[in-house]
Amino acid sequence: MNFKSETCVGRNNRSLTLYYTKSEADDGARYAKSTYHKEMVSYKCSSCGYYHLAPANRNTPLATKRCNCVDRNGSSKDLYISKSSAEKRAKILLSENGVKLSVYKCVEERGYHLSKDRR
Ligand SMILES: [Zn+2]
Ligand SMILES: [Zn+2]
Repeated sequence: MNFKSETCVGRNNRSLTLYYTKSEADDGARYAKSTYHKEMVSYKCSSCGYYHLAPANRNTPLATKRCNCVDRNGSSKDLYISKSSAEKRAKILLSENGVKLSVYKCVEERGYHLSKDRR
């Protein structure tokens, strides 16, 4: 079973499909692949706590652990579990928003962050 989320919307402002468990979400991903030939991956949503699907090429997993790093506005920074996922995210942001970000290692060594190039 899956439902449309009432709280989470995707990039096109359509409600995301909500799955209660990871295995349901993975089933959904398999279905999307066989039906629409779309490579999808499941991820746990940090805002609603359930699972959604995202296109595989946009999957940039955030670390589940957080660190204490904050940005200039004092809000906690997104922590990426690997350098490659942070780089992938930076590429997406560059092509979509024209914002150039560089990847650096978290000072607490829990993962990687993105930061605006200050040049
Ligand atoms: Zn959600
Ligand atoms: Zn950090």
